Amino acid sequence: MSLLVHKYGGTSVGSIERIEAVADRVAGTLAAGHQIVVVVSAMSGETNRLTSLAHEITERPSSREMDVLLASGEQVSIALLAMALQKRGIDSQSFLGDQIPFKTDSSHERARIEFVAPNKLLEVVGRGAVPVVAGFQGVDDVGDVTTIGRGGSDTSAVAIAHAVDAAECLIYTDVAGVYTADPRIVDKAARLAYVDFEEMLEMASLGAKVLHTRAVEYAHKNNVPMRVLSSFEDGEGTLVTSEMEHMEKPLVSAVTHERDEAKLTLLRVNDVPGIAWKILGPIGDADIMVDMIVQNVSVEGHTDFSFTVKRADYLRAKDLLEQSVRDNGFNECTVTGDDSIAKVTIVGVGMRSHAGVATTMFETLANENINIQMISTSEIKISVVIDERYVELAVRSLHDAFELDT
Ligand code: ADP
Ligand code: ASP
Ligand code: MG
Repeated sequence: MSLLVHKYGGTSVGSIERIEAVADRVAGTLAAGHQIVVVVSAMSGETNRLTSLAHEITERPSSREMDVLLASGEQVSIALLAMALQKRGIDSQSFLGDQIPFKTDSSHERARIEFVAPNKLLEVVGRGAVPVVAGFQGVDDVGDVTTIGRGGSDTSAVAIAHAVDAAECLIYTDVAGVYTADPRIVDKAARLAYVDFEEMLEMASLGAKVLHTRAVEYAHKNNVPMRVLSSFEDGEGTLVTSEMEHMEKPLVSAVTHERDEAKLTLLRVNDVPGIAWKILGPIGDADIMVDMIVQNVSVEGHTDFSFTVKRADYLRAKDLLEQSVRDNGFNECTVTGDDSIAKVTIVGVGMRSHAGVATTMFETLANENINIQMISTSEIKISVVIDERYVELAVRSLHDAFELDT
């Protein structure tokens, strides 16, 4: 007998029929002799629906009220699942974040987890019942409801698994595991039986939304065994592990993509010490995340400087940039930008020890006539920025070039 955490995402609890199916799966796991803590997301589409309601009232809703609003999504799904379990004769009780408590800091809409109390959950499990916990939400020091960022219920599940010392954290979703590329784009994408934590971290932060990046980080740091699998069919799924050192490592394990990107460029900016700081300082102060940065070789005291941000931050970043150009008296400099770019990345721990991976990537894109606008690399990944129109073509051709379907 082991204690397991099951997490069910939006699609897995997207209708009453799906909630009944989840209840059957939980019942089956109990019958096999395990104890379970269940964590659920809001029903699919609900968090988006609530967000648009807020935006019908104001462009800039306060973060505190957004959290009160968004947290209601998970309140619905926990209660419905607890009822479905009770209907099957299983003792079950639903819990909101503050009833656990699931303590976070007060940064609304992207709160950091501080502490998850295991006592209540263990007590419920100990009497043979199933706690159903609202993912994505927590409570801060003053008792206000917080949320931990979109897609965050994966992280809630991992934090809960760590708190109760679960044997495994099973992330049930709408695909059968982690694939070599988004299976919605690449028909031939293959499920990975195992994925290395480091690779998974790169994949998650570079667009493979199957796992929330912080969930991978948290599980890695705290040694929480994590598996991704389908709530629609039975299967082994994908084990996220750090035990891959002894296995043969593929050169490239996966291709990921992210559409949600934008690029800003300063043309003919004065090439003087402190330039990057002057340009990026105000952007950072405004809490806008800057990703790739490229500065050209200087010609006659001027250079071009480009960087990428999330598409949602594009206009704000452009305004700030135009302001810095004026403030610094960069009279010859012009600000341009493009908010229809995408980032495509190949990831693989095997890349560390092999040259030539980049060449294959660039050659593949060249053969498809796809222009690379920016490049960034780390030991285990290569990312390129391209025109968003070619993202699917790029992902498919790279998937073929690195023979990921075999
Ligand atoms: P949930 O609602 O269960 O949290 P998400 O929608 O957040 O599910 O994540 C699952 C989705 O992630 C899949 O439907 C799939 O389209 C997408 N995805 C993107 N890249 C990958 C990948 N490499 N492997 C598996 N799924 C991926
Ligand atoms: N319901 C939240 C969202 O849609 C959290 C999650 O699904 O993980 O982002
Ligand atoms: Mg998700």
